[in-house]
Amino acid sequence: MTPPVLCYHRVGGAPELGVTRVSQAVFSRQMESLARAGWRTLTLSEFSGSRTTPHAPRTFLLTFDDGYESLAEYAYPVLERFGFTATTFVITDFIGRENRWDMRYTWRRLRHLDWPHIEHWRARGFEFASHGARHRRLTWVDDVTANDELCRARAVLIEKLGAEAGRAIAYPFGAVDDRVQRLAHAAGYALGFGGVRGDHGSPWHLPRVPVYMWDATNIPFGLRQDSLGAAGRFVAHVANRCAVGTSMLQAVRGRIWRPPESTVDA
Ligand SMILES: [Zn+2]
Repeated sequence: MTPPVLCYHRVGGAPELGVTRVSQAVFSRQMESLARAGWRTLTLSEFSGSRTTPHAPRTFLLTFDDGYESLAEYAYPVLERFGFTATTFVITDFIGRENRWDMRYTWRRLRHLDWPHIEHWRARGFEFASHGARHRRLTWVDDVTANDELCRARAVLIEKLGAEAGRAIAYPFGAVDDRVQRLAHAAGYALGFGGVRGDHGSPWHLPRVPVYMWDATNIPFGLRQDSLGAAGRFVAHVANRCAVGTSMLQAVRGRIWRPPESTVDA
């Protein structure tokens, strides 16, 4: 059985209108509670190995999507305090840039981690992997676009960080189907992370539970065995399926896409 996987997006920083931000107080309390309860985080390679051989109880993969700069300030130092590690899925065209791929949920646009940040935290045992080149919903785009998203992101990560960084992708919005799984496999990824349900039989459609702002108890829903955990995972599944606003905006903008170089503030 695959170990559980948690997925956070933003931790701390400016409040937003969306639901993916978790305050630093909640995040710290959850990490402290997990550490006290004997939970331990896995590296990606430990996670990969534990899919085929029995894994230690109370182990999980901790992941972050989108790679916001604020992780370096509010999340990674907390994890270090408890001896935890994490894998962050970054959007390679937006590394070191402002968030122009999403709807605007904050007053000021958010920044993403830059390469020096990534290299600094990687040297301290944190891992980085692919969240696509531009955060496109892969199930809505043609093969050429999906391939570009998958392959370009992987090539950049391998060039900058080495072969290990090309091992895994978290599909933007958790959106994956059989076609996207085939394309991810062909692009060279060994692991692909989808939404709450996933398909435990396929390494290219692994389940992951997003932690949304209402998931604020000491142990996040994704790691709870009780009925609250089951209910919370169901709500996360529904919320994830409903989060199509950004994808629709991207679909509209798709025809007028320009590379980030031309969209930097003057
Ligand atoms: Zn994302």
